[in-house]
Amino acid sequence: MKYSKMQYGRPDINKVGSEMNKLISDFKNAKSFVEADEIMYKINSVRNEFDSMKVIAFINYSNDTNNQDFIAEQDYFDNNSPLFNDFVFEYFKALVSSAFRNELESKYGKHLFEIAEINIKSFSNDLIEDMQKENHLGSEYMKLKASAKINFEGKELNLQELEPYTESTDREIRIKAYRAYWKFFSDNSNEFDEIYDKLVYLRNDMSQKMNYKNYKELGYARMKRMDYNEEMVADFRKNIKKYIVPLAVKLRDKQAKRIGEDKLMFYDIYIQFKSGNATPKGSPEWIMDKGKLMYDELSPETKEFYDFMTENDLMNVFSRKGKADMGYCEYIAKYKSPYIFSNMNGTEDDITVLTHEAGHAFQAYASKHFHFKEYSEPTMETAEIHSMSMEYLTYPWMNLFFEKDTDKFKFSHLNSRVNFLPYGVLVDEFQHWVYENPSVSPAERKARWRELEKDYMPHLNYDELEFLETGGRWQKQGHIYESPFYYIDYCLAQICAFQFWSRAIHNGNGGFDKALKDYLELCSKGGSKPFLELVKEAGLESPFEENVIKKLSKEIEDYIDSINDSLF
Ligand code: ZN
Repeated sequence: MKYSKMQYGRPDINKVGSEMNKLISDFKNAKSFVEADEIMYKINSVRNEFDSMKVIAFINYSNDTNNQDFIAEQDYFDNNSPLFNDFVFEYFKALVSSAFRNELESKYGKHLFEIAEINIKSFSNDLIEDMQKENHLGSEYMKLKASAKINFEGKELNLQELEPYTESTDREIRIKAYRAYWKFFSDNSNEFDEIYDKLVYLRNDMSQKMNYKNYKELGYARMKRMDYNEEMVADFRKNIKKYIVPLAVKLRDKQAKRIGEDKLMFYDIYIQFKSGNATPKGSPEWIMDKGKLMYDELSPETKEFYDFMTENDLMNVFSRKGKADMGYCEYIAKYKSPYIFSNMNGTEDDITVLTHEAGHAFQAYASKHFHFKEYSEPTMETAEIHSMSMEYLTYPWMNLFFEKDTDKFKFSHLNSRVNFLPYGVLVDEFQHWVYENPSVSPAERKARWRELEKDYMPHLNYDELEFLETGGRWQKQGHIYESPFYYIDYCLAQICAFQFWSRAIHNGNGGFDKALKDYLELCSKGGSKPFLELVKEAGLESPFEENVIKKLSKEIEDYIDSINDSLF
């Protein structure tokens, strides 16, 4: 079904609520496993209906953040999703104490029950009001960023439209673009501070109501982390610092040499080559056509998927004013349809939309056979393996987009993924500190951020940009506002994705076909097992193993050293 034909109707929360209550009570009173199973199916159909309307409302709103009707619908869900959560919470409670739990476990696996249990630990009716406020503050943050109208070189640009100028080969233009970009954040700094301050206090209160020491534990439970903990994450960060940070520093030195600067400044970090970054050689429409060729050739599964996405208008990727400054993939369960949203802007990121977001969407499509969201929507560290690995598995087709710049693209893509890791763990460590110290001032938060930056990203030179020098950079990072503790997920997944790069692309260990087969299988399993189990079944090693990071960093360094980058 085409996106435009998908019916949107605002669900009546009272009606949906009594329907859920009735079904949950029937579930509790079920006389047989078959009956319980049938009711469970119905409960999940109600959930899918509600969630699908919520997703459509969000898509419509992010597609036009100024439309009053869409704002009203988004608002409605900001208010009513926590109320709906309450019914889901009752369902989970009934599920774990079901008389037919054994039979249900043998049909669906025990992971569903582990997820139900962790959901119970992360929710209580006392949190509903706080969750509503949390949603509103998240929307406020998004709106604030989308409100940017920056006058630049005679044009009025939003933040994403300004980004290509920050990659200009002309240093003067880059400097101007950076100043303009960060001036927006600096001008609105109080508002950004205020929104975050409210969110931190709110989340801390929520953790107190649930009798947690602070928000960290609640945050981990809300991310549904069950097979790794805070200590393992802290060790992971240490390993990144030990093996990846020195490699990243080396890459930055090489980069400075390539672009002919003695000292790499902040406004240089996105320009990898004096001759300019690799860019796609055609318009967004052209990119989409090449995407078809790529996914046709990659596998029958990806061909079917891409045809489905394009035929049903499920890829909303062209930039337009009023569209939110974000890229995402959502899943509309009712119509078993993934949906990709982004703003293509002529940079190499346009291609990663087509690989990264499409990787997410492919997984959603590949696991649409699951009727409940616990399995069709994996936790984020698993989900990011699907997206980040697709970026590597499509390497053999990058010539379609980059033509003579293909090697340049691959070189800079791998560079940027290495350089991302220190930033990623920095975001994670910052958030741990923030929620351990919920009452510090906005200025103290910024100072802590700057301290950590010096630790993890020692190459950063902010020149005279005071806003950044005093630790304001994190305010552009939506996750820090909207999805606390969602960031280490990218880093864990990147270590997994590098393994696909190593197996399929770099040393061909095991071969491309085997790696692809493992990837396709992984996607079809969705979230039906815990993270580390899925990792193992996909033939990957745990990212928490020091040796894995050590080995990969060496392999990447050897590859980088083998490339004569002065030719680019
Ligand atoms: Zn992603």
